[in-house]
Amino acid sequence: MLDALFTFLDPAAILRGDDMAKWQSDWTHSYHSTPLAVVRPSNTMQVSDIVKWANTTGTAIVPVGGNTGLAGGTQNDGAVMISLDRMNQIDEIRPDARIAIVGAGVILSTLHDAVDAHDLIFPMTFGAKGSATIGGMLSTNAGGSNVLRYGNTRDLCLGIEAVLPNGEIINLMSELHKDNSGLNLKHLLIGAEGTLGLITRAVLKLSPKPRAYATAMVGAQTLGGGLTLLNTLQEATGGAVEAFEYMPQAYIKAHLDMFKTAKAPFDNPHPANFLIEVGAPAPHDCAIQSDGSIPVVTQLETSLAALLETNDIQDAVVAQNEAQRRAMWERREQAAEVVLTQGPVIQNDVAVPLDQMQHFLDRASATLAQVDPDATDISVAHVGDGNIHYTVSPSSNDAAHKDKIVEAIEDVVQQICGSFSAEHGIGISKRNSMKRRKDPVALATMKTIKQALDPNGIMNPGKVYPD
Ligand SMILES: Cc1cc2nc3c(=O)[nH]c(=O)nc-3n(C[C@H](O)[C@H](O)[C@H](O)COP(=O)(O)OP(=O)(O)OC[C@H]3O[C@@H](n4cnc5c(N)ncnc54)[C@H](O)[C@@H]3O)c2cc1C
Repeated sequence: MLDALFTFLDPAAILRGDDMAKWQSDWTHSYHSTPLAVVRPSNTMQVSDIVKWANTTGTAIVPVGGNTGLAGGTQNDGAVMISLDRMNQIDEIRPDARIAIVGAGVILSTLHDAVDAHDLIFPMTFGAKGSATIGGMLSTNAGGSNVLRYGNTRDLCLGIEAVLPNGEIINLMSELHKDNSGLNLKHLLIGAEGTLGLITRAVLKLSPKPRAYATAMVGAQTLGGGLTLLNTLQEATGGAVEAFEYMPQAYIKAHLDMFKTAKAPFDNPHPANFLIEVGAPAPHDCAIQSDGSIPVVTQLETSLAALLETNDIQDAVVAQNEAQRRAMWERREQAAEVVLTQGPVIQNDVAVPLDQMQHFLDRASATLAQVDPDATDISVAHVGDGNIHYTVSPSSNDAAHKDKIVEAIEDVVQQICGSFSAEHGIGISKRNSMKRRKDPVALATMKTIKQALDPNGIMNPGKVYPD
């Protein structure tokens, strides 16, 4: 059946048997599969030919980028996996227009380095930046640590090119900030997790590179108390807070246990710990003063001193150099590795209104104590956008028991008008939640769109849509 692929693909681009090993499990090792083959096209025409062949033969296809997704979205027995890793060309960086035109297989950190040479940034960043690709990030609408200031991947994308399930190439490579020419189909494909088409190229927005950062760790009593801190800093800096990340003491301890060379953020532990970063692109905020100080850092120190005075926060350490700043970031970016070492875990990636975050944590812990008294929880959160990674270590790895816990946490989320899925997507892992929690009319509309674009159901089957 695969013979037809050899007519338009170089044999080296078709992997079988042991050569497929690195694609046969997701990053968390929770999902495994044996694909029919992994194919590695090097241009959009080849992707189109593969998809046309799959649509004609009724073969399931699964797009894969860096395979760092946390919802099991790339695993499917018997499917042909289409890896975009060879479509990793940066076609153009146009500094004046503040855009980059890239292939879907470009790795996030590669793009960071390329635009840095132009004193620009592509602001999306998170722990998997060394492997995650632009196509995967668009398909999951990835979030990360800087959403507070720059938005999700969706907000950073002006245009895409994609191959639809019938193999047609759709050209939506707009470079425009305004384009009201009918339905915005780009947004249909972004966040679709490869179920409506394969993203092959993108036009991405770039931002001026901050010339200086002021970065601090702050100790406080509660996550809820952090909101005063965030709002105070936003007012003081004119909205220049780039990241505002929460780590409870339980996480700090687990991190120190795992990374032996890491240091505690404070001499005395605090229940709530925040990593804060303010970015300053404007020269007047970054110019080194005669006493050696930098205005953006002084401003952060002044705001934190005032909050210490009023007892809104209990402790603060401002990074004095790049090494200290990196250490603060590593502590946060190693979160996925730290929580996965806690044994079998349930990852509840939820979003709640900003002023309900503490309420959610209190209610979720109380609910967990009722459903599974022997379970433990550990959370990290992107506070600036209301996204909490509420991770539970249940007392049993039984699937039904774990789903009962998920359902109980979903109840808490729903009561405070939150979402059961914030930034990791649905994949396989959240299909039950989709069935229970998604508005039925919205779900039916999604299925209608899926049926219209992919009547043969070849694009990443078994993901996102329940049943
Ligand atoms: C250590 C770590 C930290 C993380 N931190 C964050 C975080 O802070 N925020 C966040 O949002 N996520 C985070 N993630 C999750 C993950 O990195 C993101 O979901 C990322 O966007 C996935 O990119 P990828 O290239 O690895 O995609 P993959 O894992 O390869 O694919 C993800 C999904 O997208 C589909 N897909 C991939 N490429 C394409 C394409 N070209 N066209 C159509 N569909 C495609 C796949 O079929 C799959 O359904 C983290 C993951 C790890 C391992």
